[in-house]
Amino acid sequence: MSRPLLDSFGRQVLDLRVSLTDRCNFRCHYCMPEEGMTWLPRSEILTFEEIERVAAVLVHHFGITSVRLTGGEPTVRADVPALVARLARLPVELSMTTNGSTLSRLAGPLRAAGLHRVTISLDSLRPERFAAITRRDMLPAVLAGIEAARSAGLLPLKLNAVLMRGVNDDEVLDLARFGRDVGAELRFIEFMPLDAAGEWSASRVVPASEVLERVGSVYPLEPVPGRGAEPAERFRYLDGAGTLGVIASVTRPFCGNCDRVRLTAEGQLRSCLFAVRERDLRGLLRGGATDEELAEAVEGEVAAKWAGHSIGQVNFVRPRRNMSQIGG
Ligand code: SAM
Ligand code: SF4
Repeated sequence: MSRPLLDSFGRQVLDLRVSLTDRCNFRCHYCMPEEGMTWLPRSEILTFEEIERVAAVLVHHFGITSVRLTGGEPTVRADVPALVARLARLPVELSMTTNGSTLSRLAGPLRAAGLHRVTISLDSLRPERFAAITRRDMLPAVLAGIEAARSAGLLPLKLNAVLMRGVNDDEVLDLARFGRDVGAELRFIEFMPLDAAGEWSASRVVPASEVLERVGSVYPLEPVPGRGAEPAERFRYLDGAGTLGVIASVTRPFCGNCDRVRLTAEGQLRSCLFAVRERDLRGLLRGGATDEELAEAVEGEVAAKWAGHSIGQVNFVRPRRNMSQIGG
């Protein structure tokens, strides 16, 4: 019999985000250091069986309705379609956040294994700038990946762009237009202080309000009602050319509205992107815990969720992990 998984705001958690690996074939400035990180040894990473077990416990005990695979870069983990096939047996919407660079090869197998949809990161449409941001000259591969995802039916397609002042904020309109042209929802994300280099500053953040003003003055927009637990505020183009989203994590935090819980590659449960504490599920999994013991550990962690991250204020505490180690 399932029961609601409630956080400290009394909100029901319904969405599990699973990081498959801390590794990545990119080194985005706003996420990872140029030299990469010290990767976790293989033995510390949850196996596909362990990931499936945690997901199944959350589905069967708490009725969660969606599972999103992320990383690092989830597609650099060997044989991801095999994990997707296992998770596809659960009654959840199954999605993935990816940099898109491997989708030309993997979109078909992932769709065939049961993945429903993907969100692909795209911060610039200019090859040199893309290479400078991601530290990889792979814009053509990503554009081909977007096309492959579309043809494989990994829909509706979403594209994530992290905007940084003085880096790519002059591309807001070009990116929005690209989303309209390819039939994808472009979601502009405010730069958050989760970069490995610790270079974040409030002055680098491009507020969502500015994005809406700039896009809306060329392509008029109206809000899509019924945001629910979505971090993105969504808008519809009045000319019928689809939707656009903004994720205003810094200027308009949506903590009281969030319905997610996160599992890191090494099996730590995090009740918030900015959590400074975690619950070790791997120890429980490998120590012979029952499903009910796992469920109680999850419940305890989620109930202790910290109320609000306070970015930009004196009481903000930066988590020890950077974004590639949490999963976005
Ligand atoms: N590698 C995959 C990708 O890039 O889509 C999945 C993992 S990545 C950490 C997940 C999302 O987090 C991406 O959309 C990325 O742009 C976003 N992200 C990474 N660092 C960020 C930061 N400092 N602020 C805001 N978003 C960030
Ligand atoms: Fe890799 Fe994604 Fe981080 Fe970029 S944002 S370095 S693609 S994990």
